[in-house]
Amino acid sequence: MNDALVCWKCGTAWPGDGRFARLEACRRCGAELHVCVMCGRYEPHTAERCREERAEPPRDKTQANFCDYFVARSGAYAGEPPANTGARAALDALFGTGTAPAQAADDEARSALDALFKKDR
Ligand SMILES: [Zn+2]
Repeated sequence: MNDALVCWKCGTAWPGDGRFARLEACRRCGAELHVCVMCGRYEPHTAERCREERAEPPRDKTQANFCDYFVARSGAYAGEPPANTGARAALDALFGTGTAPAQAADDEARSALDALFKKDR
């Protein structure tokens, strides 16, 4: 049940045990990791966005904090739903943004028809 720790920003796996130095940063994107959004006490639905009442959460939840109550949590990376690309492609097809292949197919059908008519005449 040891879920992997990942960078909250880019999702890159963090090989350590979750004991971040205060200025620990992601090796890939450079995002600071000792931050509220990487913390198990982070609570986006409350005013302070923190479950620890004694803590004084910084305003910016993605900047390195000095919080003594910091505890790294796994699965901090929300990412983008994979369905997005599919939906985008479907929309493009719908509105004709990427018409090149369809156009080519049209031309092919037209030539076939032309050939057909020429043949008949
Ligand atoms: Zn990262």
